[in-house]
Amino acid sequence: MRKYEKYPLYIHNSLSRSKELFKAINPPHIGLYVCGPTVYSDVHIGNCRTFVSFDVVFRYLSHLGYQVRYVRNITDVGHLLDDGEDRMAKRAKVEQLEPMEIAQKYTNGFHKVMEIFNTLPPSIEPQASGHIPEQIEMVQAIIDNGYGYEKNGSVYFNTRKFASDSSVYGNLSGRVLDDLLQETRTLKNQDEKEDPADFAIWMKADDRHIMRWNSPWSVGFPGWHLECSAMSTKYLGKTFDIHGGGSDLKFPHHENEIAQNNGACGCSPANYWMHSNMLLLNGKKMSKSDGNTITPHQLFDGNSEHISKGYDPMTIRFFFLQAHYSSTLDLSDTALQAAEKGYKRLLNALPIAERLKDASVDGKTVDEELTQKIKDLCNQCYIEMCNDFNTAKTMAVLFEISSILNEIDQNPKLLTGLTTETLVELGETYVGFVEDVLGLKKEAEDTSKIGDVIEILIQLRQEARANKNWALSDQIRDQLLASGITIKDGKDGTTFSL
Ligand code: AMP
Ligand code: ZN
Repeated sequence: MRKYEKYPLYIHNSLSRSKELFKAINPPHIGLYVCGPTVYSDVHIGNCRTFVSFDVVFRYLSHLGYQVRYVRNITDVGHLLDDGEDRMAKRAKVEQLEPMEIAQKYTNGFHKVMEIFNTLPPSIEPQASGHIPEQIEMVQAIIDNGYGYEKNGSVYFNTRKFASDSSVYGNLSGRVLDDLLQETRTLKNQDEKEDPADFAIWMKADDRHIMRWNSPWSVGFPGWHLECSAMSTKYLGKTFDIHGGGSDLKFPHHENEIAQNNGACGCSPANYWMHSNMLLLNGKKMSKSDGNTITPHQLFDGNSEHISKGYDPMTIRFFFLQAHYSSTLDLSDTALQAAEKGYKRLLNALPIAERLKDASVDGKTVDEELTQKIKDLCNQCYIEMCNDFNTAKTMAVLFEISSILNEIDQNPKLLTGLTTETLVELGETYVGFVEDVLGLKKEAEDTSKIGDVIEILIQLRQEARANKNWALSDQIRDQLLASGITIKDGKDGTTFSL
């Protein structure tokens, strides 16, 4: 029996604005699509929060026994500034690089940061620029179905016609057509549109536009929303299980994605829409375009006026997960300091839980009360995570479990009142939720700092030798050796190896 058969999962579906029992289309398989980063600059810590939130969704679905195909795209084309210039191309000019070098550079940086935050790589990470034929095909299908029209080499989605033919438009964002703001990303060619609510699905490139491809309509490039429709359809099918992204993408991006999929394929792309909420800085949304951001490296190095020191990545991950993904979260020094303490408390109990995973005890008289408490807490971890991935409440339960683990550690007599089965369940649940589901791990030891300390010891040994204090000098060498550190005296001084 897979875990998902035992623990029903509820997801808040942004489309129905309610918590729904999750039913996979084709269990044990699940299709999960998450909008990825636009790679024209370094990701900020707000972006990281969203990707960590969906990393936990991916991890928990897998933990429940689902086989998840997790697709997260890389947006490297079609993201326009208000004046119509491509963000990638603009950055390429500033840095004097090819646009594709810009995309590669910031994709590499993004991957590095994701790894530091211990997020798992997606199953497929398609780039928009690598899927131009699929996007052209989709534009053609939209035109063929009567929902797109060409004007001067650009193609627009006929939003008004779509909204009058079907009741789908506006359901996700709750906007009605006549309220729709004009979309800033296509402001440039407003006069070509038949209606202000229409949006570009293909744009003719002007002379200064370097990222351009041939198409039946013009040499141009696809509209920003189109890539996600084309790539999710290609890798997950016309309708798949879950589509995610930050809440700021609900409109226009996701609303338009739904319109495009309906226009091309006659159905909506995903059954469940999940939106993670924004990370704030000083009460305001962190945003690249407003300059109100902190990069992950600034946070690690303590290099920002907003914080008093550097924080390690797992503390920041812990800080994110202390809030439910659908709540806003305000980044502050005080909150990070509290997270640092909480993370350490959770981690300190991990080795105790690890030991219990292989426990074998011969409980003489079973302590029914403690046994029941442990079973209830272990079960509660699933109940909280199955309640729309409530990491905040799951952590509260894990803290209760950590207290029991510490008690067992300090008072091994308690072991005699528990069966092997209970202890193994306790150990496996704790390690499983902390490491596999929440993705928290012990920080790698900072070997550069160890190196500094060894250098100090080598210097003290040198001084001991200069003073002919051979006993002390030998003691330092032998004790370092006992810790696995070898030192060698050579012509050019003393060196060490770990
Ligand atoms: P972008 O690179 O701007 O396309 O953003 C990548 C992802 O980060 C999207 O899912 C955005 O919704 C999300 N995002 C942007 N700003 C924030 C923020 N302040 N807090 C959380 N997520 C954000
Ligand atoms: Zn998208």
